[in-house]
Amino acid sequence: MGVSITNSGAIILDKVTCDGHVPGSKIRVITHVHSDHLQGLEKSIRECDLICSTPATKDLLEVMEGLYPLQMITPLYGTPFNYEKNTITLYPSGHILGAAQVLVETENGERYLYSSDFVYEKIQALECDVLVLDATYGHPSCIRPSLSTIRRELINIVREELENNNSIIILGFYGKLQEVMSLLHKKKIEVPFINPPKVYLISKIYEKYGIRLGEFYSSTSELGKRITKSQQHIGFYHPSSRPKISEDSVFVHLTGWQFGTPYKKVSSREYIFSFSGHADFNQLIKYVDECKPKLVITDNARPGEASRLAEEIKARLGIEAKPEPFNNNTKK
Ligand SMILES: [Zn+2]
Repeated sequence: MGVSITNSGAIILDKVTCDGHVPGSKIRVITHVHSDHLQGLEKSIRECDLICSTPATKDLLEVMEGLYPLQMITPLYGTPFNYEKNTITLYPSGHILGAAQVLVETENGERYLYSSDFVYEKIQALECDVLVLDATYGHPSCIRPSLSTIRRELINIVREELENNNSIIILGFYGKLQEVMSLLHKKKIEVPFINPPKVYLISKIYEKYGIRLGEFYSSTSELGKRITKSQQHIGFYHPSSRPKISEDSVFVHLTGWQFGTPYKKVSSREYIFSFSGHADFNQLIKYVDECKPKLVITDNARPGEASRLAEEIKARLGIEAKPEPFNNNTKK
């Protein structure tokens, strides 16, 4: 079957399909629970012999999507399993809890790797023959400060605003919110954390996997409501459920699209913070270099810079690269 990306965003690695539905495919891997990687999942549940993810992704799928596929298998990171002469192994990708890179080894000894969404500082690159690569930040202008600088600045701003008697509302995608909760907890920031219901359920799964997030309360519980009303706190919200701003609170938006500096203060009560679950441009290039593939296919089914990234990989590394599918999102 080789390696390709379909128009609907399914990644095909020989007999294995990842993060999309392909009619006739019998095995689907879910790399992580973000919605742009769950397309066509209900069809795959009806048609596939096997649905595969890490145990944490399975737990998140249950609480976030209410899906309980009966044919699910949940290998641990680094533990290979076989399916029709393919050996499949999931490796950490450093993205949301449970997220995985997928390595498929064929009967001819070819190694096909799908990076999925990844945080370069938290993972190990794997050598492969063909690499399917996330291209979200594939333009050379997409360069962020180091993770340690960003974390330090975020802690500073949070401390400063708490000292000014403000409450803080942090807005970001699922997974990023829990990463920030864990970071603030480690740095001994002890005001109560408030989570709306879905964020709360996800936080509970993080705790189940041993990640300490501090004292957090559901915004809909009696205690949560009381804290939100009358006590200094930090709220963690998805951007789609942003609460109203009040006089004694500030917003911190977590985004991958803030480049150059760790943050921008856009008004007296709003910060835009560079906090991403994806590699930036330099990290994408380094990752490809370390994977040593003969061919890179950049993901052009999801928003990003797949065509430009393929050009840059060819020019900078001398490695063959192309975007797929060819017609989606292709930038001039
Ligand atoms: Zn993602």
